[in-house]
Amino acid sequence: MPKVYLLLGGNLGDRTSYLQQARESINQQVGRLMRSSKIYETAAWGKTDQPNFLNQVLEVQTELTPEQVLQQINQIEQELGRIRHEHWGARVIDIDILFYANQVQQTQRLTIPHPQLHLRRFTLLPLSELVPELEHPLLHKSINQLLQECPDELEVWEFEE
Ligand code: ADP
Ligand code: MG
Repeated sequence: MPKVYLLLGGNLGDRTSYLQQARESINQQVGRLMRSSKIYETAAWGKTDQPNFLNQVLEVQTELTPEQVLQQINQIEQELGRIRHEHWGARVIDIDILFYANQVQQTQRLTIPHPQLHLRRFTLLPLSELVPELEHPLLHKSINQLLQECPDELEVWEFEE
C-alpha cells in the first residue's frame, strides 16, 4: 500500500489540539497513521506579529489516489476550520502532501512532491526524523542531504508545551 507523507501546520488557536484533531481525522479519512514526527515550532515568516507556527510530519498508509487524498485533507481543513473560527477567513490548520510513494505528478490542482519541501527547514527537519534516507524522486537527493544544503535560515526547534 502506498505511503503518503503529510505536513501539518498551524499558528492559530489551540495549536496542539488542532494538530491532534487533524491526526485523528487523517487516520479515519485518509488511511492508517503509521508514524508521526515530533512537533516543531518556527517563528512566522515575514510578518513577525503573528504567533509561531507548529509543524508535524505524518506517515500514512493509504488506499486512496493522490487526488482523493487531496480531497480528504481539504475536507479536514474545512471541518477543523469551522469548529471555533467560523467567521475567520484564516484556517487554523494547513495540510500539505509532501510525497506520495515515489510518484511525480504535476497538474493544476496538485504538485507532488510538494514544490517547496526542499526549501523549507520546517518541512525537512520533521521529515528527516521519519525518513532521513528517502530519495527525492526529482532531485535525487536524500532528505538528509537536502537538509544539509537547505538555504532556509529560519530557526526551527522542538516544541515544548
Ligand atoms: P498553501 O498550502 O500554499 O498555504 P493552500 O493550502 O490554500 O495553500 O493550498 C492551495 C492549493 O494548493 C490546494 O487547493 C491544492 O489544490 C494545491 N496543491 C498543489 N499541490 C499540493 C500539495 N502537494 N499538497 C497540498 N495542496 C497542493
Ligand atoms: Mg496547503
